Amino acid sequence: MRPFDYFAPETLDEAISILRRRGDGGRLLAGGTDLVVRMKEGGLRPPYVVSLRKLSELRGIEFSEAEGLRIGAMTDMATIASSPIIRERFPILADGAALVGSVQTRNMATVGGNLCNAAPSADMAPPLLAVDAVARIAGAQGWRDVPLQEFFLAPGETVLQNGDILVELRVPTPPRGSGGFYLRHTPRQEMDIAVVGVGALVTLPNGDIEQARVALGAVAPVPMRAHQAEAVLAGKPVSDEVIARAAAIASQEAQPISDVRGSAAFRRELVRVLTERSLRGAVERAGASAP
Ligand SMILES: Cc1cc2nc3c(=O)[nH]c(=O)nc-3n(C[C@H](O)[C@H](O)[C@H](O)COP(=O)(O)OP(=O)(O)OC[C@H]3O[C@@H](n4cnc5c(N)ncnc54)[C@H](O)[C@@H]3O)c2cc1C
Repeated sequence: MRPFDYFAPETLDEAISILRRRGDGGRLLAGGTDLVVRMKEGGLRPPYVVSLRKLSELRGIEFSEAEGLRIGAMTDMATIASSPIIRERFPILADGAALVGSVQTRNMATVGGNLCNAAPSADMAPPLLAVDAVARIAGAQGWRDVPLQEFFLAPGETVLQNGDILVELRVPTPPRGSGGFYLRHTPRQEMDIAVVGVGALVTLPNGDIEQARVALGAVAPVPMRAHQAEAVLAGKPVSDEVIARAAAIASQEAQPISDVRGSAAFRRELVRVLTERSLRGAVERAGASAP
């Protein structure tokens, strides 16, 4: 690993001023499960690294009915997966966090790092897209809010500019009768990244689908919403037919590539199967029984 300068600021303002002073090329360090691996392997050689560990502004999980959920960017996967409020009100987020790596990885890996790394397969991306999360970003130009749908630009690339820090995710309180579910396919049970991941959220106040969101991972350059599949579900009673139809449309909306992990055709079929399963899981959690 090439030598680099290391900073461990105590406040967000201090971190932003270090980034402004040192300029291009630096890297923020969260859990280090992506960054340190890439630095060790020599793929990344930043002249300086700024640790986010001491920044209390990036920590914590809070919820109120009026304000919704706030998750600090430095919250690790183990904390998200075991949080009582997340398990009760946003179990789709616990699904994603519980799947990341091993126990050791989950104790280190943060939700902010998972999103900012911008891997198409990131396991927190589809769940957070499905709950309509907003990224709160602080930087030299002040604060800004970016809907997660607009956060990812390309593999490894987000809207973050040099000097920006993702501070937290904000999630609106889901309407009564909502349920969400995330699952993925990996060849191995653990310690593997998603070949396909699908998150679904449905709102069924009276048994009909008032609103549905379907989010796909690892089947396009960036995690994506399947808007056409969502439109098929909206306003319909829950049935085998409507779920199957939405799943078939989601598989057409996906833009998978073939790689060592699976062919494009295999991924499309996985999107269909996992969208069906994810929607059924979401319907069950919404309090209705899946068809
Ligand atoms: C063994 C192993 C298994 C894994 N399994 C999975 C898996 O199953 N699913 C999965 O999705 N991922 C997996 N990963 C990848 C990785 O663990 C996750 O992406 C993790 O969430 C990254 O978070 P981190 O805190 O470690 O990020 P870091 O490595 O610290 O940072 C990642 C990138 O994000 C930037 N960054 C971090 N925080 C911020 C912030 N707040 N603001 C701006 N930029 C920031 C960093 O500068 C860096 O470029 C695995 C990794 C390993 C090593």
